[in-house]
Amino acid sequence: MRSCNEVQEKIARGESLSDDERAHTTACASCAPMIADFSLLEAALSTLGTAVPDGFADRVMAGVAAEGAAAAPRTPRRWVPLTLAYGAGVLAVLNVAGFLASVFQASVAFGGTP
Ligand SMILES: [Zn+2]
Repeated sequence: MRSCNEVQEKIARGESLSDDERAHTTACASCAPMIADFSLLEAALSTLGTAVPDGFADRVMAGVAAEGAAAAPRTPRRWVPLTLAYGAGVLAVLNVAGFLASVFQASVAFGGTP
């Protein structure tokens, strides 16, 4: 059995998972939400036609690792890149939402009843 960190790092790097790892991610309370977050981010970024920047996954994983190491003292500097990474993701999601809203409004304007 691989560790959660190992599985999550593979996901963050876009590597394919083995059957065992796939089974783990659906059952693991720690991995499942991380995958949901990451695939949402990735989908949002790809919708915008923006490539995931180099080191993006590494920055996210550094933050995840820092979060997991509860025994280790937290250093504020580690949270800066993570916050920036999540901020970029949130902005991307908001942009997609705005785009979808504009498409919806346009379709109402063209096809809707007055
Ligand atoms: Zn796990």
